[in-house]
Amino acid sequence: MSLSGKTAVVTGSNSGIGHGIAVELAKAGANVVINSFTDRPEDHEMAAEIARDHSVEARYIQADMSDGDQCRALIEKAGACDILINNAGIQHVQPIDQFPAETWDRIIAINMTSAFHTTAAALPKMRAAGWGRVVNIASAHGLTASPFKSAYVTAKHGVVGMTKVVALETAEEPITANAICPGYVLTPLVEAQIPDTMKEYDMTREEVIRNVMLQRQPSKQFATVEQMGGTVVFLCSDAAAQITGTTISVDGGWTAL
Ligand code: NAD
Repeated sequence: MSLSGKTAVVTGSNSGIGHGIAVELAKAGANVVINSFTDRPEDHEMAAEIARDHSVEARYIQADMSDGDQCRALIEKAGACDILINNAGIQHVQPIDQFPAETWDRIIAINMTSAFHTTAAALPKMRAAGWGRVVNIASAHGLTASPFKSAYVTAKHGVVGMTKVVALETAEEPITANAICPGYVLTPLVEAQIPDTMKEYDMTREEVIRNVMLQRQPSKQFATVEQMGGTVVFLCSDAAAQITGTTISVDGGWTAL
């Protein structure tokens, strides 16, 4: 399929899943805007590399997704926004009675509220273009819970709810809104959780991966960023035009348990 002529904005995409999604969208012919809160030469080089490799237009636009005005400014600076991927996200793991309030606020802002602002800014552009796709990167933790991840689980459940509302508000238009719910994908966000878990359970890296992280993932394999990107491309295809307001789990069977 070709997404040639479409512009995709992927929040939080100088790393991990967001970068993987931007690459798969570019492979499918879309022009892409990648984003994070930093403004380093390597961020812009990453966009240039995508442009070179896939013969599309690719830009890096700095915007901090913890700030509503910057979320909206990202969409304005992008110009067109036919495909919006709300992907930026952070994690913090601590029991709720010790969870720092400012960390709670930051996770809710980046993982959930940013999608409100970007969607609000992007929908008028999709309506003007007569076509649009919103894909929110939620999580298996948007459908189920784990202890010590109160802010993350709350934000991801919220994103799933917001996805349904956006789908209903656009139901009669050529716009869809869906959420992808990944299980564990080996990205820097997950890597960062390994050392603490090794200490907590006195386990080796391999034991943490198999017995803790993949314990709830029946396939016993990490999902990949390419699979996330492929699922996004499918949701942008004509075959998915009547798929709206739902979640697609890419979790090796986690939510079947
Ligand atoms: P990652 O840490 O590799 O990437 C997160 C991205 O968000 C980075 O590009 C980072 O720069 C960006 N980001 C962080 N704070 C930001 C801010 N304030 N403004 C703009 N950008 C910001 O993590 P990832 O694993 O690729 O996660 C991407 C998304 O996928 C997140 O929403 C995460 O919750 C979700 N997810 C990940 C997994 C997994 O196992 N890795 C599973 C389920 C869901």
